[in-house]
Amino acid sequence: MHSDFIEYRPVKKEIQGAEDSSTDLVREEEILVLFTAVEQGDGVENAKQAVKDAGDFLKKLGTNRLMIYPFAHLSQNLARPAEALEVLKTMENESRAAGIETRRAPFGWNKALQVKVKGHPLAEMSRSYGGLAETAPQPPQPHRVERELGEHELLARIKKADFGVLPDTDHRVIGERLDLFSFQEPSPGMVYWHDKGLRLRNILIDFLRAELARRGYVEISNPALANTNLWRVSGHSEHYRDNMFLTHLGDEEFGLKPMNCPSTFLVYRSRKWSFRDLPVRYAIFDPLYRNELSGVASGLFRVKILTQDDAHIICPEEQAESELGDMLDMMEKVYKIFNLSYKAKISTRPDESMGSDEEWERATSTLIRVAKARGWPIERKEKEGTFYGPKIDVDIKDSLGREWQCGTFQLDLQMPKRFKLSYTGPDGKEHTPVVLHRTILGSLGRFIGVMLEHYAGRLPLWLSPVQVEVIPVSDEHGSYAESTLRGLLEKGVRAEGAFEAGTMNSKIRNAQLQKIPAMVIVGAKEKEAGTISVRERDGKVSTGVKLDDFVRELVARTSRFE
Ligand SMILES: [Zn+2]
Repeated sequence: MHSDFIEYRPVKKEIQGAEDSSTDLVREEEILVLFTAVEQGDGVENAKQAVKDAGDFLKKLGTNRLMIYPFAHLSQNLARPAEALEVLKTMENESRAAGIETRRAPFGWNKALQVKVKGHPLAEMSRSYGGLAETAPQPPQPHRVERELGEHELLARIKKADFGVLPDTDHRVIGERLDLFSFQEPSPGMVYWHDKGLRLRNILIDFLRAELARRGYVEISNPALANTNLWRVSGHSEHYRDNMFLTHLGDEEFGLKPMNCPSTFLVYRSRKWSFRDLPVRYAIFDPLYRNELSGVASGLFRVKILTQDDAHIICPEEQAESELGDMLDMMEKVYKIFNLSYKAKISTRPDESMGSDEEWERATSTLIRVAKARGWPIERKEKEGTFYGPKIDVDIKDSLGREWQCGTFQLDLQMPKRFKLSYTGPDGKEHTPVVLHRTILGSLGRFIGVMLEHYAGRLPLWLSPVQVEVIPVSDEHGSYAESTLRGLLEKGVRAEGAFEAGTMNSKIRNAQLQKIPAMVIVGAKEKEAGTISVRERDGKVSTGVKLDDFVRELVARTSRFE
């Protein structure tokens, strides 16, 4: 991972063969971090090859700093500690011998870790050496031993990820407590969204859809799988192949889409366009598939299947500036609702890229003008643009003071030429438009993870998957509680009833634990008066409330994004 910084602190020896190490905090900046797991059968040759590849990669990145970071979570087939340490030391020595400025994190420790990965397309790579990976791709090998196990034993081996050791503030712990999502062994680095988590994601998408509709966007959806020929046209085959999931249908190679752009261009190409029809603003919420380093170790922050709030605006170059302005307006409106401050940076041309200097210059200066017009300070991230254009990256700052890259706004003069996109201009001739690629929240899963930590699980009312918990004082009041719940659901309030066995107090505690914004409590008094009692998350209690009044206020507060 090409990183702005890595920080780690050795906390506790994890195994007997752990190296001696101080427990001081270590911080390194502007460095390529090589997370490494040594597997059974790995040896000196694998170590040399890994360092050689890392060296080539460093050259591409234009840097010479490498940290070798032992990271056992990458494998379930680890070498014995003594052998692993030997391989790691070989890597370290090889790297130094190659003139690389080398650091190595201690082996065999539990380490508190924070990495800020750069956002550019080459920032993350993964490779494996030895075993099957070194030979040509082979069909999946049936696991002989596993085959002999019955379904019963196999099922018993499928475990849900356990986050028991993590602090309460971690989004994985919050997600489990709120029953939002889980990570399960058969799908490493992929999210199982539970009903409440999916509802939360849908609330975000509905919110964005309403905003997009107001701004003249249309929404499309395209196949996940496309023939590699498409990725050859887009250049992804050349620049992104290592991160793609590839498969075969008959003799043809196909890839799962890592980005939405190429298929969006095919939709554009399916009809003729006049300058009067433009800009066309295509929003898309399809899942994307990226074979990146990931795992339970990073929860929602790094996954292999993600959904972005993605959009592509296709327009004449003269309109790019005003379109960018409108996108940034939307971004500011959205971030304000989440109470997030932000900072924009302009990423310039990387070494590996398409197009002429003149085009890059033009596109980059357009982005700078747009940023200046908003009074933003111009901070540049040299060489961190995409391979097809420069971009404005926007980092948000959460309540814990951490920065996350969320928004990205790319001005692309290359893909329109590669895909021969065109429109008829006022002169009756065919012209090439430009494409603006943009996301505001980025990966929705990652954004949800950040928000869970930002709000420490206390999601605002408008975002809460369950806004109201209806709790009967005792079983006798079950039917009044049920009709109260129906009344709430009919009015569009996201409510649920705690009608299971158990005391009122335990149900209240449970709702508090789940940080549900309001509890509606009904007993004999409420039933007789036809009212409800409300207990809010902050402890405020109101009695003798009319259901209609409660609903009206709740709906009003939801629509104000409170
Ligand atoms: Zn795109």
